[in-house]
Amino acid sequence: GNSEDTVGLDARIHLLSSRQFSCVYLKRPDMAHGLVRRESVDTEMHTAHDTRKTYVYTKKRGYDVTRNPHLNKAMAFSLEERLQLGVHGLLPPCFVSQDIQLLRVLKNYDMKRDDLDRYIFLMGLQDRSEKLFYRVLMSDIERFMPIIYTPTVGLACQQYSLIFRRPRGLFITIHDRGHISTILQNWPEKDVKAVCVTDGERILGLGDLGCNGMGIPVGKLALYTACGGMPPQQCLPVMLDVGTDNETLLKDPLYIGLRHKRVRGQAYDDLLDEFMKAVSDRYGMDCLIQFEDFANVNAFRLLSKYRNKYCTFNDDIQGTASVAVAGLLAALRITRNKMSDHTVVFQGAGEAAMGIAELITMAMEKEGLPREQCVRKIWMVDSKGLIVKGRDHLTHEKERFAHEHPHMKNLDDVIRQLKPTAIIGVAAVAGAFSEQIIRDMASFNERPIIFALSNPTSKAECTAEQCYTFTEGRGIFASGSPFDSVTLPSGMTFYPGQGNNAYIFPGVGLAVTAGAIRCITEEIFLVAAEALAHLVTEDDLAEGRLYPPLSSIRDVSIKLAAKILEYAYENNMATLRPEPSDKEAYLRTLTYSTDYEEFVADSYRWPEDSMTVQSCKL
Ligand code: NAD
Repeated sequence: GNSEDTVGLDARIHLLSSRQFSCVYLKRPDMAHGLVRRESVDTEMHTAHDTRKTYVYTKKRGYDVTRNPHLNKAMAFSLEERLQLGVHGLLPPCFVSQDIQLLRVLKNYDMKRDDLDRYIFLMGLQDRSEKLFYRVLMSDIERFMPIIYTPTVGLACQQYSLIFRRPRGLFITIHDRGHISTILQNWPEKDVKAVCVTDGERILGLGDLGCNGMGIPVGKLALYTACGGMPPQQCLPVMLDVGTDNETLLKDPLYIGLRHKRVRGQAYDDLLDEFMKAVSDRYGMDCLIQFEDFANVNAFRLLSKYRNKYCTFNDDIQGTASVAVAGLLAALRITRNKMSDHTVVFQGAGEAAMGIAELITMAMEKEGLPREQCVRKIWMVDSKGLIVKGRDHLTHEKERFAHEHPHMKNLDDVIRQLKPTAIIGVAAVAGAFSEQIIRDMASFNERPIIFALSNPTSKAECTAEQCYTFTEGRGIFASGSPFDSVTLPSGMTFYPGQGNNAYIFPGVGLAVTAGAIRCITEEIFLVAAEALAHLVTEDDLAEGRLYPPLSSIRDVSIKLAAKILEYAYENNMATLRPEPSDKEAYLRTLTYSTDYEEFVADSYRWPEDSMTVQSCKL
């Protein structure tokens, strides 16, 4: 641009690096047809907060801008923008608002035949116009979340090789050892704050999907933005492809991943070590690394290996724990007793079960019960039956919940024998909560707690309808995948709660990145669970909901993040200085906007000084 115009931007322009930008100009909203006027911006920048918008376009002008999903506004480009960018004539001669674009997307969406088509359609939109994509998601998150996340994302991963259109995120393979930092340099964004990584070995309850598991980090990070408000440019999905043991994929000519068996052992560990270090070197020690859908042979040991060294957490273990415990805490408001009054039986003893059990133990301890007694209130059943002392096949994690008791094989017998107050299904065994089990639970509990958390829907231990019907409406139910409301013959209608991790990880991610928290402790997940349970209203509980409505998830994430930030500052875990006095207000200033006018603040943040950036969010 005209150098006179930019002189006054001094430090800021310096940061933007004048080489990268071809023009910086201000536009007055009062100029109805928006003739763009360049102005001397040195004085304007200080006074412009409410009255003007700043546009910064990269040097890659014109055609490239219309092909760049971060910048593309399609027919929402005004005439003057089209002239400035040199794309006049490259778009239909019509100027539409984002509202109209939303309408067009929704109409197209309605024409899709099934959920997989809807998924492909939304991903295509994300590739073309990111702001519009998030506008669509946020226009009705309840409707779109089951498409971009569980359950449809599971189907999408199973078909990923077939529906693959455009790469998104980074693909790093076992053969890239020694070069990971170079690969990270290839990623165009410099200010990444959250990485979501998988090796695809245990995708939802669907097993080893190899490189096709990339759909999971992509979906999770879309929710960081849609639910937590994190700018998408700050989020990086990563697939660590070490091969797959899935024979069907290995034989599939369309498969997009490495065509050999999984590499394990030292080579695998070296890859992970190098990856963790390379990410932290490039993006900072406070760059969040979320582990997603690793098989439990790796998930637990990687978590304990890295949790005190890097800013990391495992969502399948800790995020799940937090959302499940939030559901239990909300359920306590119905059963009107304490966590330590409950006996819990888990169907499944994997990542989800261990994470939930650990957090339940912490919640009981917080009520004053000694740890050994808390642990004794938790029982687990795995594929070999009840976990008891001296049984075969006990891993270190399972050993902790092995009690003195005769071994029992059958879940029905276990339930009848132990008479738990709560059963939690996390074994991905469809229908495991039989009619008999549910009726038994209702016979020895006034308000039995029944959580069928296995995903996707086809793997759920029971349906919402079965739970409410067999307990005559007394069951307190939550599921992993969404279920429709249920009306019993008595006329009572229930709205089953979805114990969706999306209530937790976007808020945790937002708090961790906003407060530059470098170590994510277990307590953070208990704080998140308590904050989430607190947001459930009495009306929600009366309708059977153990979670706030998904439609309020943006607000929920911010409130939850504010609680975590408070806790982190009280416990010297947040490194951002100065400490924001009003945490919620501070978090709100950081959140991504789908407004086309806010390119600057969302696209370019100054990592050195977040407060300076805020002053630039015009
Ligand atoms: P995992 O592979 O770590 O654990 C599965 C466990 O189930 C293992 O302990 C295995 O021994 C046990 N199991 C297998 N067959 C069994 C059988 N017949 N009877 C009893 N136990 C059996 O998996 P995970 O991460 O713990 O996830 C399990 C399920 O929970 C998946 O369906 C996942 O989608 C779901 N999940 C739900 C949520 C949520 O709702 N928020 C979160 C995480 C996981």
